[in-house]
Amino acid sequence: MAQTGVIPAGAVAIDGGRVVWVGPERTLDRSVRLRRGGRTYRGNGGTAVPGFVDAHTHVLFAGDRAGELPLKAAGLSYVQIARRGGGLLSTVKATRRATDAELLAGTLARLARMARSGTTAVEVKSGYALTHAGELRLLRLVPRLARRSGLRLVGTYLGAHAVPPEYRGRADAYVTAMVRATLPAVARGRWARFCDVFCEPGFFSVRQADRLLRTAQALGLGAKVHADEFEASGGARLAARLRAVSADHLLASPPADRARLAAAGVIAVVLPVTAIAAAARRPPARELVDAGVPVALGTDCSPSTWVEEMPGVLAAAVHAGRLAPSEALCAATVNAAAAIGLADAGTIEVGRPADLSVFPVRSTDSLGYRFDVRPSVVFRQGKPVSSA
Ligand code: ZN
Repeated sequence: MAQTGVIPAGAVAIDGGRVVWVGPERTLDRSVRLRRGGRTYRGNGGTAVPGFVDAHTHVLFAGDRAGELPLKAAGLSYVQIARRGGGLLSTVKATRRATDAELLAGTLARLARMARSGTTAVEVKSGYALTHAGELRLLRLVPRLARRSGLRLVGTYLGAHAVPPEYRGRADAYVTAMVRATLPAVARGRWARFCDVFCEPGFFSVRQADRLLRTAQALGLGAKVHADEFEASGGARLAARLRAVSADHLLASPPADRARLAAAGVIAVVLPVTAIAAAARRPPARELVDAGVPVALGTDCSPSTWVEEMPGVLAAAVHAGRLAPSEALCAATVNAAAAIGLADAGTIEVGRPADLSVFPVRSTDSLGYRFDVRPSVVFRQGKPVSSA
């Protein structure tokens, strides 16, 4: 993960939205000729990096939960706030009530801020409707959000985000409803590429998560697990057993389970801002890399941990997670792309989409060092789309 392949004094040539050449600037002129009407952009000594891939978000929601902060400050846990009908279920209420137009507008504003910080691809989970029709409605909004934002979005079905109020005390019946009706509909319509489950005491047990994810895999969806965020409840072990694409959070996973993830080739999606803001823990990024697990990064943008910009996530991964800046960059680009099934994203490579940013910093080490650095220009599919 520390091998980023930096080219000092490098240049990139783009044609038709794709990278056609990359190498040292001194060999640019003899390698590439600028097409008539083509344009040159000067990096001015800055650093070009692949567009960030945000591998874990709950960005599609309505409302906000700023009112919970005094409860959190008083020491109530996420689970305690949830049990009082606050937390996630209050977002479910707001999201169910919101019109499509309201959901699109709020989410597009968040995606636009993500894009300005250098993000070019984002995983988007459902999970704030928790009904058959409501979850499908959220997933159907994802392609519309992609068209309107210009970002590459990957949908994940997270009907198992929490047990909905209609099924209180009957989690098994809710899992049965997802297995029999919603998952097949999601797969038939290709509304999501992955199925995720919140595997945690008070939410879904390992047995229920196993049932759901096996069904999803049989239907052709990739498996993801919200694992061991609050307790070592077997989520990482389940992800390893099912050869899930990723296991996310992992704050409480025992060291032996890291070895299991490594052996099974599961990508660990570390969410450092949530670790600090929601759980007051340090993310075990260093430990996961040392155990041989490929680590990816995400914002976990949600009404619980509202963070949109990846540069701050890289910095949190470096400062709290003890990754080297080069490792954090790898985690936020090529590894994050692998965590959400985008085989052609996360690198600046010939033949791949020209999704990249230029940051006004001398080296990639400054990413991960400076918490709120912004790119001077972002290219998506070869087109400059924003600049600071
Ligand atoms: Zn999450």
